[in-house]
Amino acid sequence: MSTANSPIVLVIEDEPAQLELLSYNLKKEHFRVLEATDGEEGLLVADEAQPDLIILDWMLPKLSGIEVCRQLKRQSRTKQIPVIMLTARGEEADRVRGLDTGADDYMVKPYSVRELVSRTKATLRRTRPGSVGETISYGDITLDADQHKVHRDGEVLRLGPTEYRLLCTLLERPGRVWSREMLLDRVWGRDADVDYRTVDVHIGRLRKSLYRSGQPDPIRTVRGTGYSLDYDV
Ligand code: CA
Repeated sequence: MSTANSPIVLVIEDEPAQLELLSYNLKKEHFRVLEATDGEEGLLVADEAQPDLIILDWMLPKLSGIEVCRQLKRQSRTKQIPVIMLTARGEEADRVRGLDTGADDYMVKPYSVRELVSRTKATLRRTRPGSVGETISYGDITLDADQHKVHRDGEVLRLGPTEYRLLCTLLERPGRVWSREMLLDRVWGRDADVDYRTVDVHIGRLRKSLYRSGQPDPIRTVRGTGYSLDYDV
């Protein structure tokens, strides 16, 4: 079963049988799956739900897959989301291969669903390691996403579920400055009824949980912007 920490995959595909097959197989592998059946809807859902990965069909009603991909990669809110494009043989595949779409990977139809699921996992291991059970380390902090455990300097830390998700997100890109808005989207989800103050409160709790006497505070506050996992190790 998928859990609140399972990665979210958005599938944008207009053929019902294909969509159902993909959805079924991804859910079986514990992904949370969102579906869209045309390009416009796909863009909307991507912006609203901030999925961890998008599987995007080339031939779509309203807006083609290639145009959807371009728009996703142009928007600051969606450009980090990896896209796996599904294409027919021939010219389409050549153009995706040329990467003029910004797609991160592509598969030529008819593709093997198993291969697509395994490429989905491989992409997420690179982009969202905490979401697929990988162990991530930064300095003396280690997060074991499989065991759901966090260590600092060899000692097990007790973190609340929100603090755990916050740390998971910060650990993906040490040094990157995350705005409160980005953290809200990623940790609470877009629809959550919370404000920036909530982010500050949970960052405070995370700091407290990570505190070890004699060790530096690993979270840097970037005035007027947000937070970053950043310290001299
Ligand atoms: Ca199609």
